[in-house]
Order: sequence, then C-alpha cells, then structure tokens
Amino acid sequence: MLVLGIETTCDETAAAVIERQPDGSGKILSNIVHSQISDHAPYGGVVPEIAARAHIDLLDGIVGRAMKDADVNFAQLSGVAAAAGPGLIGGVIVGLTTAKAIAMVHDTPLVAVNHLEAHALTPRLTTALAFPYCLFLVSGGHTQIVAVLGVGHYVRLGTTVDDAMGEAFDKVAKMLGLPYPGGPQVERAASGGDPKRFAFPRPMLGRPDANFSLSGLKTAVRNEASRLIPLEEQDIADLCASFQAAALESTADRLSVGLRLFEEQFGPPHALVAAGGVASNQAIRGALQAVAAKAQTTLIIPPPALCTDNGAMIAWAGAERLALGLTDTMEAPPRARWLLDADAKAPAGHSKSRA
Ligand code: ATP
Ligand code: MG
Ligand code: FE
Repeated sequence: MLVLGIETTCDETAAAVIERQPDGSGKILSNIVHSQISDHAPYGGVVPEIAARAHIDLLDGIVGRAMKDADVNFAQLSGVAAAAGPGLIGGVIVGLTTAKAIAMVHDTPLVAVNHLEAHALTPRLTTALAFPYCLFLVSGGHTQIVAVLGVGHYVRLGTTVDDAMGEAFDKVAKMLGLPYPGGPQVERAASGGDPKRFAFPRPMLGRPDANFSLSGLKTAVRNEASRLIPLEEQDIADLCASFQAAALESTADRLSVGLRLFEEQFGPPHALVAAGGVASNQAIRGALQAVAAKAQTTLIIPPPALCTDNGAMIAWAGAERLALGLTDTMEAPPRARWLLDADAKAPAGHSKSRA
C-alpha cells in the first residue's frame, strides 16, 4: 500500500510517501523535510505563530514535491496520514486540515496519527523488528521510556517530571550564549571540555522508578556559569562537558531501571530503540550502547534523518494503522496534548522542584 504522510507539529514542514508490503516491510519513496530553523533562530526558539504561518505557505509545495519525487498520483494512495498532535496547535491544524482535504477530494481514507506513536513505530520501517520493544523517546518536547507492545498499545514506564532532555540542552546552550538550536552546539563544545571540572548533580540516580528530572541540573549549570562570568571559551567547553556527563549518567541509570521494569512486566524486549533529535548525540549513543549490552538486548537507533521530525514516520504509522483497518473520520480533532498511552496516570510521588 502507498501512503502519504504529513508532519507539521513543530518547526518542520514535511511530507513523504512510503510503501508498505503485505509482509510488513516498508520503503521510503520520498521524504521532503523543510526545517524552519532560520525563521526562528533570531528569537532563540520556535515561535508558534511564525511556525503556523510558514506551514500554510510551504505545505502545498512540500506535498507536491513528495508526490512527484515518489512518482505517485493521489488516486494510487491507500490513505493519507497527518500528525494530529501533540504539538503546536496552529501547525497541527494546518497539516490535519490539508490531509482531510486530500482525503475528501480523492476519496481516500484518512489516518490521524499521534506524533509520538510515529516516533515509536519508525524503527519498524527501517528494520525487521517485532513487538514488544522498549522505546527511549528523547527530543525537544519529550523524554519517555515506553513499552511498545503493538500498534496502538503502549505503556509508559518513565517520563521526565520537568524539562525534556532536548529542552535542557537548548536552555544550557542559551545561557552560555551558544546559538539555537543548542543541542548540537553543546555536544560540539563538550568535545573540547573537561567533564570532571564541575561536579553537577546526577538527577534521580538510584531511584526505583524510571522517571527523569533535568531542571535541577540545568539550574546547577546556570549557577556555576554566573559565578564564572566573564566566561572564557574553555569555561563554556568544561560546563558543556560536565553537563553532558551528568545528563548521560542519569540517562543510563534511568534506562537501566526502565529496562528492568519492562522485563518484569512484559518479559525481555526485542530491542532498546532510541528516537528523537537528542538520539543523534554521539555521546548519548555510546551510553545507550553500554546500557543495552548490560541488559543483554540490541540497541536500534534509526538514521538521524528519521530520528528528528519527518513525514516518512507519519506515513509509516498511518500505514501500520491502515493495515489493521484503523482509519479516522473528518471529525478527527487536532490536539495540542495527546498522551501516547491515553489512560496513563501522571507519575506519582514527584514534585517539580526536585534537583
Ligand atoms: P518533539 O518531537 O518532542 O515534539 P522536537 O520536534 O523539538 O520535539 P526533535 O526535532 O526530534 O524534537 O529534536 C530537536 C531537539 O533535539 C532539540 O532540543 C535539539 O537541541 C536536540 N538535539 C539535536 N541534536 C542534538 C545533539 N547532538 N545533542 C543533544 N541534543 C540534540
Ligand atoms: Mg523539531
Ligand atoms: Fe518529534
């Protein structure tokens, strides 16, 4: 089956066409991603209104290019999928409305995809991977450990109680005067720094649950940085390296617990899978490799272009749902918030102020 996918939940305007075979394997026929980074960089972060307007201006052209590159016409599609949330609501409305229009005009099924579900299912597009597996979703908006048990069947084992990992990287970059988006800048600066110069806190280390906390670590970096002003280049490198080392040690500990909880509840996972923009950080990849080896499971990280937001992941999640006969109506709502495990409870026992 051929499926068109549309992604507009944040600052990427993206569309793609994928093909899914009856045996469950997939192929990307086109994958067009326009990053709006340069539109938002002057403001040091994504401006929702600017993003929504850019999606309106760009999306028709991006969809047209995706169809042309794939050499597919609308009549050949088995369905059209759009990310219906969670995300910035203006952008979500643009993408979902466009998908509805295409579905209506060409009389093809609509799939309203959860953006997080798309991240969760992406490894099955590039690898023959059976359920269940353990997902570490680590991006600008999310830091979660999720048991992926089947299409539409997810159990959240851990989540951040405050900042997302990518958000913490971006905020540390901003306070040190590094340009937006900060994650890759922090990684670059850290490679020339001393990870032992500052003994930053390792949040949540040793706790029996699999939750994360990053705001206390971020505050510790801010306090140290303001003590050192004016900052020399080496100070910035050492602050980045020490921050990254603390974030990694905490991540490795939280993931080890997450994998243990997974095994207790669902048996051994077929793999540990990482997705989201932060999964392109080389140091984090190294830490995840060690965690997976210790837990005697395989680490799978989709290629960076499929880790960050893109249309192929939406098209693929749409195809996985279509293959099970799951479609949506024209009433499908755009959602700013949409939990992956809709009946999940908030993590108990944590206050937001924990270091
Ligand atoms: P979400 O998918 O949760 O809605 P998002 O769209 O912001 O959020 P992505 O586009 O997947 O997330 O990833 C962007 C985030 O990844 C940013 O916070 C960015 O700083 C971070 N990031 C990208 N590369 C790196 C890196 N090498 N090291 C650390 N962080 C990184
Ligand atoms: Mg993004
Ligand atoms: Fe994303």
